[in-house]
Amino acid sequence: MTSKPRAYDGACLCGATRFRALGPPLRPHTCSCKMCQRHSGALTVAWVEFPTDSVAWTGKNGAPATYRSSDTSSRAYCRSCGGTIGAIDDEPTVALLLGVFDKPGYRELRPTSHSYRAKCPRWWKVDAAGP
Ligand SMILES: [Zn+2]
Ligand SMILES: [Zn+2]
Repeated sequence: MTSKPRAYDGACLCGATRFRALGPPLRPHTCSCKMCQRHSGALTVAWVEFPTDSVAWTGKNGAPATYRSSDTSSRAYCRSCGGTIGAIDDEPTVALLLGVFDKPGYRELRPTSHSYRAKCPRWWKVDAAGP
């Protein structure tokens, strides 16, 4: 174990919404549910979660805008460019999309499971561990 938690930075498309999340990251996984597909435009997205207290909004826009997408969660997006950032859950968790991280390649961010794989077309392949 490292003595100091790693900081993960990321940003939206225009850069006005930025975050810094302090590790350790929780529950890295991919998801292909219809809500994630419509939210992102992608067939599959990669997620990683952090406790709300571990995420700071560091860009000039501050916290992202939100859209209430279910009984337990709101999708988060930049109020300037509309770029998706992730989701802010009612349980004190922020789920961030790996695609907005400056450096998504760290081993501990690699998805270990894939939710709703059956929602993908047959020809779509995702190289993530898990069922
Ligand atoms: Zn933006
Ligand atoms: Zn999903």
